[in-house]
Amino acid sequence: VDVDAKLSVNKFRVDKTNPHIVVVKEPEMAELRKLLIACPAGLYKLNNDGSLQFDYAGCLECGTCRILCGNTILEKWQYPQGTLGVEYQYG
Ligand code: SF4
Repeated sequence: VDVDAKLSVNKFRVDKTNPHIVVVKEPEMAELRKLLIACPAGLYKLNNDGSLQFDYAGCLECGTCRILCGNTILEKWQYPQGTLGVEYQYG
């Protein structure tokens, strides 16, 4: 199964003014490492200087990061409002 191909058909309506996920300012590296691996959309990445690069725009709203790390890493996790967020395409 080509996961990237399957994910690429999803559409996103990004709420640019109100991120639905906010990461704490100084995330603990041990906790963060879980998310580098576990986020199915690969949204948690490390920059060369070791700082976190996170973009909520491609979020699949699976809740994995919330369940794994909760408020040790996340200052905020909520579903995008109204019709914003991911729109799954099947087939
Ligand atoms: Fe990644 Fe899922 Fe968390 Fe979205 S909810 S950032 S897809 S782990």
